Amino acid sequence: MTLHESLAEIYDEVLRRNPGESEFHQAVLEVLDSLGPVVTKHPHYTDSAVIRRLCEPERQIIFRVPWVDDQGNVQINRGFRVEFNSALGPYKGGLRFHPSVYLGIVKFLGFEQIFKNSLTGMPIGGGKGGSDFDPKGRSDGEIMRFCQAFMTELYRHIGEYTDVPAGDIGVGGREIGYLFGQYKRITNRYESGVLTGKGITWGGSLVRTEATGYGTVFFTEEILRTRGDSFDGKRVVVSGSGNVATYAIEKLHQLGAIVVACSDSSGYVVDEKGIDLDVLKDVKEVRRARIAEYADLREGARFVADGSIWSVPCDIALPCATQNELNEADAKTLAQNGCSIVAEGANMPCTPEAIRLFNDAGIAFAPGKAANAGGVATSALEMQQNASRDRWSFEYTEERLAETMRGIHDRCLETAEEYGAPGNYVVGANIAGFTQVADAMLALGVI
Ligand code: NDP
Repeated sequence: MTLHESLAEIYDEVLRRNPGESEFHQAVLEVLDSLGPVVTKHPHYTDSAVIRRLCEPERQIIFRVPWVDDQGNVQINRGFRVEFNSALGPYKGGLRFHPSVYLGIVKFLGFEQIFKNSLTGMPIGGGKGGSDFDPKGRSDGEIMRFCQAFMTELYRHIGEYTDVPAGDIGVGGREIGYLFGQYKRITNRYESGVLTGKGITWGGSLVRTEATGYGTVFFTEEILRTRGDSFDGKRVVVSGSGNVATYAIEKLHQLGAIVVACSDSSGYVVDEKGIDLDVLKDVKEVRRARIAEYADLREGARFVADGSIWSVPCDIALPCATQNELNEADAKTLAQNGCSIVAEGANMPCTPEAIRLFNDAGIAFAPGKAANAGGVATSALEMQQNASRDRWSFEYTEERLAETMRGIHDRCLETAEEYGAPGNYVVGANIAGFTQVADAMLALGVI
């Protein structure tokens, strides 16, 4: 990939200033690669070091999280919150609890979040956080004590007008509950707008749980619509079986598609009759078990421990698990099997080589910062409801989500067209996300 000269200098600086943070480098390079036509057409975007400033987080917080396990041993984890950019609003982005979390992962996610949040058109800046804590196999009491310890430090950095975290991998409704409870205890304030993804009875929004998965499907539906097509009878493969994957599968089935495979980190299941969502939710949400149990409970389904889920033939692929889970070889297999659309429910699940192959093969590719923006958009709707002490119906909130996804889709296509890359959602998403943030940064001065 050849970068515009001024952007290549910025990328070199990012590499030098952030050694060893490969995921962050990858996320920055992907955005810079799209910005060449922008700086050529509008050189003022290189004024006041806007792009260089964008690549440097406004604030990076790293803290110790000591907690006591069920055996009475003291455990130490590391907590992170990267407050990346607040030009458009308070920092907004999820918390990830997974052993792979380190500063480079949090920075890649926070950087992506800036453009994603901008694309929603809502007044939210970009941030992300998390911990290298591994929730797998931990008791409910241990999860609670860890969340309380994490918030005991984090609370001083967040707030309705400052920074509003939400969930991500390993952080769902249960964890948000413990985090919110501790924030309330420490501050003595019922500040609903400080976290999103809350329970429905204590300040949450209907549709937030479903929003990322549903939103990815709404975005994909728009791609199909531009081709005069629909989901009816389409074979879809969805990786993961967590929050995003589960609700993507639910909406896909509602719209007439058949989801034939899903996965977790131990392997994947193939179910030619279509994944049974009740069985899947029972295995993953109720029993918190491994995906192999799905195949034990469902006749005709099979579990595969080795190999790639992307070898299962499909018309549409939705990677909804984690970063870099779909590589060049997988992309080749998808193309050979006739897959025509790939939309990212997860953040950066496709490697740059895979994306290049999709482009060459004429496969429509929707990047996560556009296709999975429904989660954060609905978080912003939760903030709106909290601010007005109101509660909206499921139908109304879902329609707002669908409308937002249609808007993002159209803005990506229009922007791609304007900058000479018709049909390229990556270029459209990066440029549309960037220009709005950059305009705000220029207006706010050098801060
Ligand atoms: P969950 O923790 O609910 O589920 C994650 C799923 O991905 C699980 O099935 C998990 O399997 C699998 N997974 C995680 N790590 C790996 C790995 N290293 N290899 C293989 N599989 C893995 O997370 P979410 O569904 O919330 O998040 C999924 C993706 O979507 C992430 O990239 C996240 O950043 C992104 N996203 C989430 C949003 C949200 O609203 N939740 C919003 C926007 C993006 P296992 O249980 O075995 O670990």
